[in-house]
Amino acid sequence: MNITELARKLKTSTQELREKIPQLGFDVGEKAIQVDDKIAEKIIQVWKDYQEQEKLKSISQKIEIQDQLKEKKAEAKADQPPVSLPKVITVNDLADRLNLSVVKVISELMRNGIMATINDNIDFETAAIIVEDLGFRVTEQSLEEKKIRKINAKDLIAQHLDQNLSSKTPVVTIMGHIDHGKTTLLDAIRKTHVTQSEQGGITQHISAYQVEKKNKLITFIDTPGHAAFKKMRSRGGTIADIAILIVAAEEGLKPQTMESIKIIQEENLMMLVAINKVDKPEANVDQVKKQLSEINLTPEDWGGKTICVPISAKTGQGIDDLLDMILLIVDMEKEKIMADPNGPVLGTIIEAHLDKNEGPQAIVLIQSGTLKKNDIVLVNQGSGKIKSLKLTNGQEIEQALPGTPVKILGLKNTPQAGDILEKIDDKKDLKKRKKIKQQETFEQILSIKNKTTEESSDRINLNLVLKADVMGSLEAVEEAINKLEHPKIKINIIKRGLGQINETDILRAEVKHGHVFGFNTQISTSADLLAKNKNIPVKNFGIIYELIDEIKDCMNKLIQPEFKTIETGQLKVLKIFRQEAKQTILGGQVVSGKIEKGNRCLILRDQKEIGLGKVSKIQKSQQDIPQANAGEECGLQFEGKTQIQPDDILRAFKEVEQEKNTIQ
Ligand code: GDP
Repeated sequence: MNITELARKLKTSTQELREKIPQLGFDVGEKAIQVDDKIAEKIIQVWKDYQEQEKLKSISQKIEIQDQLKEKKAEAKADQPPVSLPKVITVNDLADRLNLSVVKVISELMRNGIMATINDNIDFETAAIIVEDLGFRVTEQSLEEKKIRKINAKDLIAQHLDQNLSSKTPVVTIMGHIDHGKTTLLDAIRKTHVTQSEQGGITQHISAYQVEKKNKLITFIDTPGHAAFKKMRSRGGTIADIAILIVAAEEGLKPQTMESIKIIQEENLMMLVAINKVDKPEANVDQVKKQLSEINLTPEDWGGKTICVPISAKTGQGIDDLLDMILLIVDMEKEKIMADPNGPVLGTIIEAHLDKNEGPQAIVLIQSGTLKKNDIVLVNQGSGKIKSLKLTNGQEIEQALPGTPVKILGLKNTPQAGDILEKIDDKKDLKKRKKIKQQETFEQILSIKNKTTEESSDRINLNLVLKADVMGSLEAVEEAINKLEHPKIKINIIKRGLGQINETDILRAEVKHGHVFGFNTQISTSADLLAKNKNIPVKNFGIIYELIDEIKDCMNKLIQPEFKTIETGQLKVLKIFRQEAKQTILGGQVVSGKIEKGNRCLILRDQKEIGLGKVSKIQKSQQDIPQANAGEECGLQFEGKTQIQPDDILRAFKEVEQEKNTIQ
């Protein structure tokens, strides 16, 4: 082949090719015009590797130079205080903190493969890289700032605990397995015990209402779906005081019943059990009580402490008893159902929507303080001035005390269920607080569950670097990953960020022996090359469940097989042929199961254990055999110090691999 043709094939110049050929280990002569076809083929093969090596070299040089630059810049700015960064920051705020133009920050982000606009949020990891690239030092937001941001309903209420607490309206929620009758019961109580106000009737299902029984109020709330409920919990505990655990009498305890019990216990709620659907012929109340006893929730009438009320949400049977029982619990646990009506005004949004005529409407459950008309409030990142307060039956009121669910008008934005409402006393404080709220929200989105790190250390770590196109995807992927649980595997997200997968991601994964997962993003060419060279697994997905399946696969590969010791059989010693210090040759009969070569065994004399050893050989008619079965007589070589005698029993054991407890 002509050398110019070869150079064209390799997309290089003839001169470069001539220079490189000897370096690649070929000798074609300095001025050769022709190259042997076979040699040309070999050069083509080697050239590819050579180019990749060159690229890698230039990448590591680039990284080295970048590091040196960073160091230099860091030295130069060492006298400046480090930039404190929160978990999430907008591009605009980041530029502010760095005292740089937004354009500069955006272009630095672009250099790292992140397309962000001025108001986009970027996470700490990404921001930290950019900030360091720009030559600043970084610290995570100071503890002091964190303290302010962490304030939630519970903390605020706790700060006022020693204030003037008085009884509040108890808040009751109903929890249980799907189809066990939660909605029917909520509706049945509402229909029979709520009087419609003149101002507005209740026509449809509502997420909160109050009933009056024996001149006492009880608030019922419908805790929306599990996800929103979890959010409420993460924002400061559940908002209920009492939980009714509903169990269908014909079905008994189900997985979601167990999950509900777990939540009720974790949240320390007072509980009573409504055994529902007793009108059904197949209802079996005793069976439910038995199941409850089995999990340490023994019913009162069985000698335990759990209050159980048989009811039919459909016919109304037992509902009055249920309400009486709630009042009884409230009476018994008075000191637990308290709040300060003069304390900070705090509540949780139960339901919200945008009304075409009236604007954002929300039902808020007041947990502390007294909310009044004209109060200025902050909900999540939005604010407002309370224009009207109504009970959920439509009755207009001037103020709402703790434990009251109220419909409010006057918010500028529509909040979400689970958001916290706070009354702001100082108007000037509003702007500052809004910013804090914004941080708080995103911090929760990004928060890693520390739970796993507290758990046992004998778990194998699966370290992941996660990259996604936008914050929403990253959040969704993390949420799905957080649901993957296995007692033997601990998933650590060692780095998360937005934008394309870059060299830093690969290097981070390398240090921690991790995997890199992208969602709706790409990998830069240099990162791809680096990953291949360093053998770092990198995968990109466009569908969450495919990504999750891949992670499950990785988890399953990490699960080590477990072994269990089982007894294989027993042999009665009939005769001793030879006895040495550490070995005995004996004759015996297998009395049960089988004895296998290699079994470990326990020696029993008069049913007492007298020693341990191993079966190293089994013989029958002077032939070695792998095992002897029940009824068979055999010769046996026993390794062990025990002085065995006739009539001793050998119990043989072996270790068997158990089926792996994989994640499906
Ligand atoms: P949820 O998923 O727990 O909210 O359950 P629902 O309230 O939607 O009830 C599920 C189904 O059970 C519906 O068809 C109800 O009509 C029915 N149901 C609820 N309570 C009772 C009851 O006490 N007796 C009977 N026979 N059916 C009931």
